[in-house]
Amino acid sequence: MPKFAATHSLNDYPKITISNYKKSLDNAPAETIKLNYFYLGQQYRYQISITETPCHYGGKRHWFNCPQCGRRASTLYCHGRYVCRQCLGLHYKSQLIQPLDRLFSRVSKIRVRLQWQQGIAYGHGNKPKGMHKTTFARLVNEHDEIVNRIVEKML
Ligand SMILES: [Zn+2]
Repeated sequence: MPKFAATHSLNDYPKITISNYKKSLDNAPAETIKLNYFYLGQQYRYQISITETPCHYGGKRHWFNCPQCGRRASTLYCHGRYVCRQCLGLHYKSQLIQPLDRLFSRVSKIRVRLQWQQGIAYGHGNKPKGMHKTTFARLVNEHDEIVNRIVEKML
């Protein structure tokens, strides 16, 4: 996910790494790790399951199972719950896409009022018959402002 990495560093998120738990897991093998913490004022209490794989040189390697997708991960990132970096990326992407959808639907509504063809690629149309000049100017302004925001987000 290069786009995600470029705009938001993984270091921005609280994280847990399996190596921090290695000693206690070696001493007392466990199938889960219990978490209990506050994040943005909300309490989170749940368990993350652990997988073991054998190492080449003997011993075992431990992994978290991502609570969201179940993939093995050595590091989990917090956005409320702890998830693997793939899930964090998806979460981040969906946050980015939702506002974009909203902007598109606002533009689409304005274009309906203006009786312009749908699709920002078609640019401006004419003033609809019977529409007041000031109403037309206000709608065009609003339209252009939202289009600018869409273009910024899509770059
Ligand atoms: Zn995941």
